[in-house]
Amino acid sequence: MGNNDFDVVVVGSGVIGHSIAFRLKRDAPRLKVAVLGDPVNSLQASRAAAGMLAPFCECDKADRFFEFCRESLNKFPAFLEELISVSKVPVHFSSAGALMFASAYRETWKARQTFFADADVPHEIWNAATVRRRAPYLSQGCGEVMWVEEGRVNNRQMHDALMRASRKLGVHVLEANVSGFIRKNSTIASAVTDSGNINGARVVLASGSWSSQLARVLEISVPLKPIKGQMCRVQLDAHFTDYTLHGGATYIAPRREENGFVIGSTMEDRGFDPSVEDEVIDRMIDAAAEILPCLTTARLVESWAGLRPAAADLMPIMGKSRRYDNLFYSSGHYRNGILMTPNQADYMADIIQGTRDDEIAEFSPSRYDL
Ligand SMILES: Cc1cc2nc3c(=O)[nH]c(=O)nc-3n(C[C@H](O)[C@H](O)[C@H](O)COP(=O)(O)OP(=O)(O)OC[C@H]3O[C@@H](n4cnc5c(N)ncnc54)[C@H](O)[C@@H]3O)c2cc1C
Repeated sequence: MGNNDFDVVVVGSGVIGHSIAFRLKRDAPRLKVAVLGDPVNSLQASRAAAGMLAPFCECDKADRFFEFCRESLNKFPAFLEELISVSKVPVHFSSAGALMFASAYRETWKARQTFFADADVPHEIWNAATVRRRAPYLSQGCGEVMWVEEGRVNNRQMHDALMRASRKLGVHVLEANVSGFIRKNSTIASAVTDSGNINGARVVLASGSWSSQLARVLEISVPLKPIKGQMCRVQLDAHFTDYTLHGGATYIAPRREENGFVIGSTMEDRGFDPSVEDEVIDRMIDAAAEILPCLTTARLVESWAGLRPAAADLMPIMGKSRRYDNLFYSSGHYRNGILMTPNQADYMADIIQGTRDDEIAEFSPSRYDL
């Protein structure tokens, strides 16, 4: 095999692409695996997220998506333990859980409680007196509160750890923009990059919001587009809560490491627009301060925008291509790509290695004839 020849070429160096490479190399150390990532677009989702691991706050019915997300949440402690042990990069994880507010969920509040009870989701209802005792920093207007057992991870540390761990296991990580592919009949022979052609026996498209642009080069139309989210991080003098706070459209995710709070987020269908608007950020902080009044005095540390890869049916696209014999997809993880990372890596590594052929129908590329 030449220097540019690989068993598996993963296009995309976010959490999705790197976790697949990491899992493949861990399972089969002899595989030659490359991860290609465009350095310009690399900050758009995996490092832009809030790091909430929130299958319960995000889902309201026990469908296959919910099950997949829940399995992934359960895999997180072991996944991070392994990642940290290989990479030696610290990754902060919290299992303190999340608080949801009746005032934000209004008419769906009772339905949520029924769903959580039916699905055996660990949760507690806190009345006003309990809220004052356990979370006195919350606004009086929050009303009844529900605690749910969820998680949170520092996604930037997790991405750092994945990059380091992949390299340590021998994955070739190349900062390279893929501009095209060389095809031979019904296979993809090479990815064309600004640093030369990279040849792969198997190719994985894990390029987040850019997956549809790259697929177009292969004459495949993937119904996927970016949904922009503007976010910010503020800082207070003390760290006093580890709960993620879900106020409907507004959420607050504590970052214990920096006495910080990540506040999010907008949902904007505006193409590949990376702009951050000061007035939008100000409005988001004001909305968050209605939940957590002390945020009115917080210092703004940074603000940014990210792009969530959203398929038309808002489900991930994961599995084998029908159109090319050696092409695989893992994209469209939309609002929950950080949460889905461990389960997605296991699922995709099995499909790529041919040890699993029963694709989950709801996620299969074949639903769009890809
Ligand atoms: C504001 C915001 C908040 C979020 N909050 C959460 C959250 O709290 N919890 C959660 O679970 N999820 C959250 N998400 C979703 C999550 O971040 C994404 O689903 C996930 O990061 C997608 O990862 P990815 O690796 O597929 O995509 P990306 O991180 O976008 O990576 C795509 C990769 O493709 C590469 N690429 C693109 N084009 C090319 C090319 N031509 N050549 C080579 N490489 C290319 C890029 O360089 C990049 O490395 C959030 C997303 C946003 C935007």
